[in-house]
Amino acid sequence: MNLKVTDIKQYIYCPRIIYFLYICPVSKKTTYKMESGKVEHMVLDKLEERRTLKRYRLAEGERVFHTYLESERIGLQGKLDMHIVVDKQYYPVEYKFTERSASLNHKYQLVSYAMLLEDYYRCTVRNGLLYLVPKNEIIPVEITPNAREFVYEIIDKIRQIIRSERVPERQRKVNKCRDCEYRRFCGDIDIWTKERVDKCIF
Ligand code: SF4
Repeated sequence: MNLKVTDIKQYIYCPRIIYFLYICPVSKKTTYKMESGKVEHMVLDKLEERRTLKRYRLAEGERVFHTYLESERIGLQGKLDMHIVVDKQYYPVEYKFTERSASLNHKYQLVSYAMLLEDYYRCTVRNGLLYLVPKNEIIPVEITPNAREFVYEIIDKIRQIIRSERVPERQRKVNKCRDCEYRRFCGDIDIWTKERVDKCIF
């Protein structure tokens, strides 16, 4: 069974999410943020079709939207937002609708897509691009051998969680739990108590 590229992103955010996705599936509500994200994607696709590639610091090239990629060899599948083809060079592009900076899980999601593109075109991908839409910022990401190796390690760890059916340790960073869409399923996390303690004035 192939894993999804989004699993890589989720594992880096918190390994416990893999448990909720594969071992003990929970039903999450579709949030307003998810719905508006879809609309933003569509609007952006339309805009992208008309723009030049200057923002990506690339010369003329072809944009390809929403390519479904899968590789039995790597054990991954997913749909890439966009990639740019310039003279047989391939650049995966992921849109991120975050006001914050690019994070590690965004980086490795992009590296995973780069690896899938390599299989698809039988080529070597050396660079990918994260497009932080609200900030209108492009972050180049180098696709290094170490980064590829790290993706393979994560794939192994995800498979271990699925095989063992054991719930991973909870996330130690309270901020991550506070922003997590699975937090109401994590019964052993009392972030609200911590928050109250933080706000206490003695
Ligand atoms: S609430 Fe915290 S521990 Fe639970 S899945 Fe989310 S990040 Fe992980």
